[in-house]
Amino acid sequence: MSTVVLSNPLRPALLAAARSQRAERGLTRMPVTKRIVDRFVAGESRDAALENVRELLRQNRFVTIDYLGEDTLDPAQAQHVVDEYLALIDALAQVPGRSESGCARPLEVSVKLSAFGQALPGDGHAVALNNARKVVEAAENAGVWVTFDAEDHTTTDSTLSIVRELRRDHPDTVGTVLQAYLRRTEDDCRAFAEEGARIRLCKGAYNEPETVAFRRKREVDASYLRCLRILMRGKGYPMVATHDPAMIEAAALLATAVPRGRDDFEFQMLYGIRPAEQDRLVRMGQHLRVYVPFGDQWYGYFVRRLAERPANLMFFLRSAAPGR
Ligand SMILES: Cc1cc2nc3c(=O)[nH]c(=O)nc-3n(C[C@H](O)[C@H](O)[C@H](O)COP(=O)(O)OP(=O)(O)OC[C@H]3O[C@@H](n4cnc5c(N)ncnc54)[C@H](O)[C@@H]3O)c2cc1C
Repeated sequence: MSTVVLSNPLRPALLAAARSQRAERGLTRMPVTKRIVDRFVAGESRDAALENVRELLRQNRFVTIDYLGEDTLDPAQAQHVVDEYLALIDALAQVPGRSESGCARPLEVSVKLSAFGQALPGDGHAVALNNARKVVEAAENAGVWVTFDAEDHTTTDSTLSIVRELRRDHPDTVGTVLQAYLRRTEDDCRAFAEEGARIRLCKGAYNEPETVAFRRKREVDASYLRCLRILMRGKGYPMVATHDPAMIEAAALLATAVPRGRDDFEFQMLYGIRPAEQDRLVRMGQHLRVYVPFGDQWYGYFVRRLAERPANLMFFLRSAAPGR
C-alpha cells in the first residue's frame, strides 16, 4: 500500500469508475445527472455546442472543441467520430470572428486518438494515424488548429509518434498535450520546445501508477512548474491548461521574465470551470481558450471532473439525494 498524499482520497476510485461500464450504466440512468452534466458539457448535439462556441467567441475567448468519446474498439464507431469531426470543421469554417489573432487561431478541435481507433487490435496505430491525417488536412484548409489530447500512459508513445508524423507536413496546425504528472514529461517538453511545437501543458487526469507518474499533489505541481519553465523559454507556443491559481501566476511571471508577449502563449480552462477567473484573464488582455466538450458520450469526461475536486462530487451527490 503506498503512502501517497492525494488532494482527493476518492480520486482513484472515481477514476476507476470512469472506465467501468457498470458504473456508467448506473450513473447515466439517474434522472438528475443530466442537469449536473450540463455544467461541464456544452450540449449533446453539434448545433448546441456551436451555439456555445459563438457565445464564447463573443466574450473574446478562443475555443477548442472535443467530440466526446474514447477507447473505441469498433472500426465503425471510429469512422463515425472522424465523420463528426469533419462535419464540425466544415461548420467552424462558416463561424464569423475566426480570423487569426497574433499567431493564434481562435478555433481549435481537440482529438482523442483512442476515439479514432488507436486501441483497435493489430493496426490501431495506423488506423488512428490515417484518421487523424484526414481531420488535420480538413482543419488546415479551414484555418482551425488540431490538438491531440493526452490519455493514459500506455498510449503516450503512440500518440506522440502520430503527432510528430503529422507535424512533418502540418507544423502550424498540429499541437499536442503533455501531462506534468508523468515522469517522462520534462524530457518530452524539452524535445517539443526545441522543435518549436504548440504544446498544451496540463497536470494529467488519469489514474497512473507511481512507476510512471508523480502522485503527490506537491510533486505534480513542482513538475508542472519545471515543464512550464522549459516551454515558456523554448521556441514553441505554450498553452497553459490549468485552473490552479499558483500555476496561472507562475505563467504570468515567467511571460514577463522571458519575455513572451500576449500573442506568444495562451491560458486554457475547461468549459464551466472557474468562469470568473476566465473573465479576469480576458479582461487583463490575455488569450484564454475554453475546452468545449460535446456529445452524448460524456460519462468518462464527467467522472474525471468529479474526481478532480471533492466540491464537484459533493455538489453532484447533494443533487442526487432523494427528495430533490
Ligand atoms: C484545456 C484543458 C485540456 C485538458 N486536456 C487534458 C488531456 O488531454 N489529458 C489529461 O490527462 N488531462 C487534461 N486536462 C485535465 C487536467 O489534466 C487536470 O486534470 C485538470 O485541469 C485539473 O488540474 P488543475 O491544473 O486545474 O489543478 P488542480 O490542482 O486539480 O486544481 C487547482 C484548483 O483549480 C480548481 N479546479 C480544478 N479542477 C476543477 C474542477 N473540475 N471543478 C472546479 N474547480 C476546479 C480548484 O480551485 C482547484 O483547487 C485538461 C485540462 C484543461 C484545462
